[in-house]
Order: sequence, then C-alpha cells, then structure tokens
Amino acid sequence: MTTAIVVGGGFYGATIAAYLKTERGVSDVTLFEAGPRLLGEASFVNQARVHAGYHYLRSFTTAYRSRVNYPRFLAEYGEAVVSFQAVYALAARNSKVTPRQMERFCADIGAPLASAPEAIAALFNPRTVARAYLADEAAFDAERLARLSEALLARSGVDVRLNAEVEAVRVDDARAAVEAGGRTFRADLVFNCTYSRLQALASGPPLALKHELTEMALVRPPPELDGLGITVMDGPFFSCMPFPSRGLHSLSHVRYTPHMSWTETGERDPRAVLTAHAKETRVDRMLRDAARYVPSMARAGYEGSLFTVKTVLARNEGDDGRPILFERRGPGGRLVSVLGGKIDNVFDVLARLDEEALP
Ligand SMILES: Cc1cc2nc3c(=O)[nH]c(=O)nc-3n(C[C@H](O)[C@H](O)[C@H](O)COP(=O)(O)OP(=O)(O)OC[C@H]3O[C@@H](n4cnc5c(N)ncnc54)[C@H](O)[C@@H]3O)c2cc1C
Repeated sequence: MTTAIVVGGGFYGATIAAYLKTERGVSDVTLFEAGPRLLGEASFVNQARVHAGYHYLRSFTTAYRSRVNYPRFLAEYGEAVVSFQAVYALAARNSKVTPRQMERFCADIGAPLASAPEAIAALFNPRTVARAYLADEAAFDAERLARLSEALLARSGVDVRLNAEVEAVRVDDARAAVEAGGRTFRADLVFNCTYSRLQALASGPPLALKHELTEMALVRPPPELDGLGITVMDGPFFSCMPFPSRGLHSLSHVRYTPHMSWTETGERDPRAVLTAHAKETRVDRMLRDAARYVPSMARAGYEGSLFTVKTVLARNEGDDGRPILFERRGPGGRLVSVLGGKIDNVFDVLARLDEEALP
C-alpha cells in the first residue's frame, strides 16, 4: 500500500493529491499547505486566462497542448469558467509576428480566429495596431476553482492540513519524511508542489527555474471594454482581461509587470524576496502605454495591485513555452518536484503520473 505526502495546496498540489488517491490507488494522501486556505497563492494571483493556444505564437508545442487541454478544462471545471469576448490584436510595430503568421499559426493548431467586427476594431488606434481578431478563449474564477478543488479533495478522502508549513523533506532508500510544526510525517513518496519555493524542498543542484516578481494591476475598465479581454501581441505589450474572482479586469504589461527577476541558485527564498519588496505600483506606466493601442484604456480606474512571484523554466525564457517540470530525486525517486507553468497543464501532469511507477 503506497502512501504519499503532497506539499503545497495550490491548484497543482490539490489536483495531484486527489488524483493519487482516486486514480493511482495510493492508500493515504496528506496535503500540507502553509497558508490558511487552498489556492491562495499563484493559483489566485494570476491572469485567470484559460489558455487556448493564442498566447504562445513562438512555441508550437505549448500552443498545441493548450488547444488539446482547453476543452477538457472547460468540461471538468465548467463551474469556474467565465466566458468573455477574447480579442487578440497585433501591434503594427515591434511585433514578432505578422497578421499572416498569426492566421497561419492558428489554422495549424486548430484555433478559431475571425477578424474583429467593426465595433471592436474601432476600439484600437489604427496607427499602432495592425489587425484585431476575435478568439475562442475563457477565464477562470479562482475562488470558484478553489471551492471545486476543496470539494474534490473531500470526496477523494485526502487529509488536508492548512497552516502547515513543511520545513524539510528527507528521503532514504526505504521511506520519505517531512518535518512540519515540530513533527515528522512519513510516506513512500513526497510531491513537492510549492511553485516558486520548489528549490527549498527539492535538495540537490538548483532546478533550472527563473523567477519574476510580478505586479498584476486590477482595474475597472471603461464601459466599452466591459466583457472584453484584450491582448496585444507579440512583444512588449499589454493584456487587459476579466478577473472574475474580483469582478474587475487584470492589467499586465510585458515591460512593467515584472519588477525584478532572477535565476534559481538556491540562495534566495522567493517568499522573502516578495515580502521585502517595496511594491510600488507601475500602473500609471501600464495604462499610459496601453492607451497608445486602445485609447479608452486611459479611462480605466485603478483598484489595486496583486504581487506575487511567477516561476517558469529557465530554458523557455526566449520562446515563452510552458512545458511541465516533473523531476524525481533522492533514492527511489521518492521526492517528486512538479511545476505546471499554467493552469491547464495540470492534465499533462496527470498523464505523466499515469506513466510513473510508484513504490
Ligand atoms: C502573474 C501570473 C500570471 C499568470 N497567468 C496565468 C494565466 O493567465 N493562465 C494560466 O493558466 N496560468 C497563469 N499563471 C501560472 C499559474 O498561476 C500557475 O501555473 C499555477 O497557479 C501554479 O499552481 P501551483 O499549485 O503550482 O502553485 P501555487 O498556487 O502557488 O501553490 C503552491 C502552494 O504551495 C504552498 N507552499 C509553498 N511552500 C510550502 C511549504 N514549505 N509547506 C507547505 N506549503 C507550501 C504555497 O503556500 C502555495 O499555496 C500565472 C502566474 C502568475 C504568477
């Protein structure tokens, strides 16, 4: 009878914990979450886009996998999905992709793309935007996703422990053990699903990760942008789209959203970096630049900012690809570190779990 401990109660840890119990026959699964609630960190502080491929014009594999996972996400998490009119626009200058390339790429991955109707095209500045399209993409409500994950864990019989930070993981030939709250918990396997803090528990050489301390601004869009999500591609541009859990829009900008970045060396705790950061908003610069492409963005009202650390694989810095990290370390590969990259990749992780031999 295999037992497992999952560390990190974000979307990944919660989904993996339930899957181990119900689909992989693991007899006892305990989930440790440092915070007071599930899905309270990166799974809440993100753009809430259910990726459908359009965003990854420079990484065919990621775009294609998004296209495959998208309908499955809508089917399995439909209660948390919110639809809106998704508009992708290509900048007239400095875009890495032309309209012709975008159209061909979307055809190749099977992503529907139509020219934006006149009323939507008129929202853009014709001098700075080459073409605007309507795409088939959705958003998720992170609060509802958290409720769905809680219900799944309860149904699956996973032992969930909140306010339970794991301080260390030890692995030997026979077992794995975690230290939390002065106690030792043992299991056959430990899944490290701590996202930006993966390295702290992974032990051994640094995982090939890149961290960005990010600011996502929350804005109230002007009435003409209500119900619309706009993404200007492909380069140093912006995205403003519904953020359903707050009833607002998120505003992020390729140039201003990352306040700082660093490569994983094992020496900096991302949470400590986030706590120490001054968190001075750059929303003025985001709005000023966004208004060059969509003039009405100048009338968006600022409601606050959410800061967190975004973690991606270092090798995908150039192409924006988002493959999963699934790395087993220690004797018997008993310590498994998992990084999803984006929400819908969870299905790729579950497929990988099906292939893995468990003790
Ligand atoms: C700014 C930003 C925008 C993004 N936009 C999108 C998007 O639009 N669409 C998309 O699909 N993806 C997006 N992503 C990526 C997506 O948010 C992540 O891939 C996903 O949330 C990762 O889930 P997770 O469970 O791995 O991490 P998290 O949700 O961060 O969960 C990790 C959990 O581990 C806990 N933890 C850490 N250390 C310990 C410890 N020692 N002991 C116990 N618990 C611990 C934390 O408290 C946390 O709850 C974005 C990410 C960011 C940061």
